[in-house]
Amino acid sequence: MRIRVGHLYPDYLNIYADRGNIAVLAARAGARGHVLDVAGVSVGDGVPVGDVDLFYVGGGQDREQALVTGDLAGKAEPLREAVERGAAFLAVCGGYQLLGRFYRDVKGRELPGIGLLPLHTVAGPRRMIGDVLLECEWAGHTLAGFENHAGRTYLDEGAQPLGRVVAGFGNDGESGFEGCRWRRVYATYLHGPLLPRNPWFADHLLSEALAHATGGEPPALEPLADELEAEAHRVSAARARARGGRF
Ligand code: GLN
Repeated sequence: MRIRVGHLYPDYLNIYADRGNIAVLAARAGARGHVLDVAGVSVGDGVPVGDVDLFYVGGGQDREQALVTGDLAGKAEPLREAVERGAAFLAVCGGYQLLGRFYRDVKGRELPGIGLLPLHTVAGPRRMIGDVLLECEWAGHTLAGFENHAGRTYLDEGAQPLGRVVAGFGNDGESGFEGCRWRRVYATYLHGPLLPRNPWFADHLLSEALAHATGGEPPALEPLADELEAEAHRVSAARARARGGRF
């Protein structure tokens, strides 16, 4: 199958190796005989609703976020329509924040988000930096990664987090939760990049993207060896347990 990926603002929102997530999706799709077809969707570009199986957006400094919010506002409706029609979506850090209602940055500027996710974000005085480990009960797995954000994200009542914080700061350093998920949208502060050390999550996203491409149910993907990935997860998880969540 051809899996069509829409990479939002690859020229603006791409820090902490977030581009690496695309490389992992391409490799894992290829290992199952599928082809990842990646197209950039940046400032001035339209959103090809229905022609994208998986949207992806990375993180960025406040400056870069401010440079794309105006354009992103014009993409709010087609992105919501695409998600409601079953497209999958992975959003990381600065991209995650802009899927909410707004991000008030360290200068106090309120950057409008697209309100796709039930949350808002406000920058705090100290950056939350370090290794993170999450428990994702909904999937029976853990996620390990790295966070670096000033933003504190507050989920609305009833919103679903991506995971429970085992070690690290997470959304706001207090709630004990990290990220947000809605339909096939998964948003997180976890950089690193995230997917090389969390192969189950990469496969979960690919499976949901394939469901959109076929119009069917998410298929079970044949397992891959993943020894190196498992080791990377172990090391990252151990670092998080040892020192995550401390200023
Ligand atoms: N600029 C945002 C913040 O500081 C997001 C940072 C990021 O993407 N790492 O919270």
